[in-house]
Amino acid sequence: MNDVIQLGLVGFGKIARDQHLPAIAATSGIDLVATASRNANAPDLPAFTTIEDMLAGMPQLNAVALCQPPQARFAAARTALQAGKHVFMEKPPGATVSEVAALVDLAEMQGVTLYASWHSRHASGVAITRDWAAARPIDHVRIIWKEDVRVWHPGQRWIWEPGGFGVFDPGINALSILTAVMPERVRLIDAALAVPSNCHAPIAASLAMATASGIPIDAEFDFRQTGPQTWDIEIVSGASTLRLGHGGNNLMIDGATLTLGLEREYPSMYAEFVGLVRARENNVDLAPLQLVADAFLRGRIAATEPFYD
Ligand code: NAP
Repeated sequence: MNDVIQLGLVGFGKIARDQHLPAIAATSGIDLVATASRNANAPDLPAFTTIEDMLAGMPQLNAVALCQPPQARFAAARTALQAGKHVFMEKPPGATVSEVAALVDLAEMQGVTLYASWHSRHASGVAITRDWAAARPIDHVRIIWKEDVRVWHPGQRWIWEPGGFGVFDPGINALSILTAVMPERVRLIDAALAVPSNCHAPIAASLAMATASGIPIDAEFDFRQTGPQTWDIEIVSGASTLRLGHGGNNLMIDGATLTLGLEREYPSMYAEFVGLVRARENNVDLAPLQLVADAFLRGRIAATEPFYD
């Protein structure tokens, strides 16, 4: 029997091309054998326009990777799970918390793996940061996550629609690291969201959070950053400061830069997925998505200048 996972990929856009294709090719135990996308396809592979057609045309598939925007995730995941396929979901795992919870139930019922991936958790400095934070009392945490939306998301209209997350699309990466490295749960206290008057999702957000025991955490997310880009988390413990930079792939402790392994977020996630499928286990952590949902629940929304790509 062929125990190599036969994978179909849905939504052949930027992240599928940039990261999924090379990562799957570099991972043993899994092969990409087809794509389902309305307007694009991987070279030299059977191509379908819908997930339904791909599942019907490729009965040998035993898993799918979902790389569309979050608004399209639930329907595709449900279709795949109902067909008995293992599912790898790009971040964020859905457009709402409740729909992902429903998918977890369905995966358990079907006895297949559901993997909600958080690529930033696989950045090379995250594990050391978690150990550092667990070993000392933390005074406060500060997150600055600012990037130029025109550079990183050109023409991605979905990001400005309801369920597209706006600046939380990158910001949730910071929250995924935060919730992985803090030794206790994080709660949202307050938020301020700036929403362009012609959009349905924020272009900037300020969050006040705290751990369950009260360690203060603040975060600034902004899509309007030009020039140098900033994806930094700073954790302060007494006179000591850890700075996790470049989205988790650069680490400085008390001014000294640590040598980290190569950045291999997506290969690391695919290796984890292969292991989960073999063990018939799920990995769905909703903490980052819940914080974003809470920011929308609790935040003050202010209209700002219209955004044009
Ligand atoms: P993208 O370039 O817009 O690609 C997504 C693809 O999904 C589209 O090309 C489209 O292909 C398909 N699609 C299916 N339903 C869609 C819908 N309702 N609206 C728009 N497209 C739809 O987006 P992306 O940057 O790859 O991001 C996709 C997901 O990956 C997001 O959840 C994002 O957070 C995550 N991600 C992105 C990055 C990044 O750097 N871009 C990094 C990490 C994670 P067809 O038209 O061919 O169907």
